[in-house]
Amino acid sequence: MHDEYRFLVDCGEGTQRQIMLSGLGFKRLNRILITHGHLDHILGLAGLLSTFARWEAIEQLEIYGGAWALERIHDLLYGVVLRGAKPPLDIQLHTVQEGPIIEAEDFRVDAVSVQHRGPDCFGYAFIEKPRRPFLPERAQALEIPPGPWRRLLVDGQPASLPDGRLILPEQVLGEERLGTRLVMIGDVGRTENLVHACRDADALVIEATYMEEEAQMARDFAHLTARQAALLAQEAGVGHLILTHISRRYRERDVLGEARAIFAKSRVARDFDAFQVRRGELVELQGERAQ
Ligand SMILES: [Zn+2]
Ligand SMILES: [Zn+2]
Repeated sequence: MHDEYRFLVDCGEGTQRQIMLSGLGFKRLNRILITHGHLDHILGLAGLLSTFARWEAIEQLEIYGGAWALERIHDLLYGVVLRGAKPPLDIQLHTVQEGPIIEAEDFRVDAVSVQHRGPDCFGYAFIEKPRRPFLPERAQALEIPPGPWRRLLVDGQPASLPDGRLILPEQVLGEERLGTRLVMIGDVGRTENLVHACRDADALVIEATYMEEEAQMARDFAHLTARQAALLAQEAGVGHLILTHISRRYRERDVLGEARAIFAKSRVARDFDAFQVRRGELVELQGERAQ
């Protein structure tokens, strides 16, 4: 979530029920980013559409994904769910290609090409734009009175003061700081081509379906082991690693052990975990738990 923007990445079976149980609500949850078209990532759209039909606040649903995923989603929503009926809300399917897909004032979302089974698989990078902080001590030294001029300067524009002086933004703004970056990768079989996209991300959320003891299986099905995910986190120098899509056959602590042997700041995502990603830190918002 970023101010007025909310995104859902993938929509597996039962997503709408889990959102209800989580208490997060559906308000403004009208942008869904799909990593790929496998059923465990899209089936929940059927239930979500039925829920949204009763949720008046949402008039438009925007679904982003690769061409193949969208084709399947189209079949699911228009064929299986609606069966010729008029959609209860405006559904827009946006075909994603690598590169920026959503631009907002202070952040953007990039689609990142990933290798999994089938064509057009993507991960998504949420990138806050760099900004230069306003330095109040400089403003004070320049005796800039309170008023609209401060806003202009923060926005990088020159401001003429009532006393006739012209103040340039450089006079009151500090060094440019990189914004927060969060990268979310769904199912994926190879990591070499992801190092660049994940470089210095504050948090990386990525699958780890298998453990190293089943590395062959991971290769066969184009999934990752916990170790491979951790190696990527290490090589890309990310702040924190959050593993998802773990096979139920494993115990969480074994998966964590394998990841942490390589990359200490690893964790395994559980249902209802809530984190806030900030520049250089990961803050757990609820369900404090010891690991
Ligand atoms: Zn898959
Ligand atoms: Zn999957």
